[in-house]
Amino acid sequence: MTDFSKYANPGVLGLRPYQPGKPIEELEREYGVSNIIKLASNENPLGPSPMALAAMRGELEDVWLYPDGNGFELKQKLAARHGVEMDRITLGNGSSDVLEFAVRVFVGPADEVLFSEHSFALYPLLTQAVGGTPVVAPAKAWGHDLEAMRERISDRTRVIFIANPNNPTGTWLGAEELESFIRDVPEHALVVVDEAYFDYAIAPATGAGDYPDCSAWVERYPNLMVARTFSKSYGLAGLRVGYAVSHSQVADLMNRVRPPFNVNSVALAAAAAALDDSEHLSRSVQMNADGLKQLAEAFAAQGLDYIPSVGNFISVDVGQPSGPIYEALLHQGVIVRPVANYGMPNHLRVTVGTKEENERFLGALYKVLVG
Ligand SMILES: *Cc1c(COP(=O)(O)O)cnc(C)c1O
Repeated sequence: MTDFSKYANPGVLGLRPYQPGKPIEELEREYGVSNIIKLASNENPLGPSPMALAAMRGELEDVWLYPDGNGFELKQKLAARHGVEMDRITLGNGSSDVLEFAVRVFVGPADEVLFSEHSFALYPLLTQAVGGTPVVAPAKAWGHDLEAMRERISDRTRVIFIANPNNPTGTWLGAEELESFIRDVPEHALVVVDEAYFDYAIAPATGAGDYPDCSAWVERYPNLMVARTFSKSYGLAGLRVGYAVSHSQVADLMNRVRPPFNVNSVALAAAAAALDDSEHLSRSVQMNADGLKQLAEAFAAQGLDYIPSVGNFISVDVGQPSGPIYEALLHQGVIVRPVANYGMPNHLRVTVGTKEENERFLGALYKVLVG
């Protein structure tokens, strides 16, 4: 018998595949329950903008053609939106794609990638895949402890990931503390601020008053890269579109490892159209702010500790190992996310749904915890 693991990159052997939220169809198949709600992957319960849908339909006849490999139209729109030159934009098949490019460009064996405890599971995965060394700074009150991170920057640090707000904790860093951290990072380390939940966090209704738009800082700090996605607030997770704003030379280097045609033509058209629908975005963001409040108030009323969040999800401490609670919720047709693999064994992360979905989740949780 051939053992292919002998020939694999050593870093790959230490990896465990990223655990996605359970798909609805799988739960239907395995548990025989119906009327399922999925609050497990931070998707937008309102779905995509009607303008994005129309753009997708308009693109279907042309899918026999390769997409624009440079994504000119979308890049142009993004550049205008961020007030930067187009050569600072890199498009990705989801923003996870651009996070990977940054690691592949800058990190080799024996290089270090720094991130926080309780942060996004993709960061260690991308690091180990290239043989890099993950350096994990302890968290403070579930969020980033920038002092602890600063102390762990070494000559070998090449990438520093900061999710703002952080997934799965929903914690965020304010403008002043984050900028003073970035200012001190030596140029051999690229600071990647992952703003997957930007539109939610920036909304006044959510309450993160000092939440910064780091993309406005890329001209000030050449070693800063900001990642954004269309998967969350724009409701286009299935299409896979994201992008980075960075120094033009960083963008040029990332472009060299980017597979040609990494963003498909339907996704390019949808993302460009979605940017024009500010009304759909603000409806999504307002619904999220209402839902966060609804969930937080219900948790408080049940005496459950939760981590105040400015994302479209919230993590709640169920006061016991959350695995069995997660399982019991599945039997009620409610899919949420256990986060034991993020060092949070008693928490469940729940995506903010519609008012009705939140109610169903809260009812099911009450039933499971109280009976
Ligand atoms: C969802 C998420 C992403 C991006 O997902 P894509 O679908 O690949 O754009 C990136 N970072 C964090 C922290 C996320 O939660």
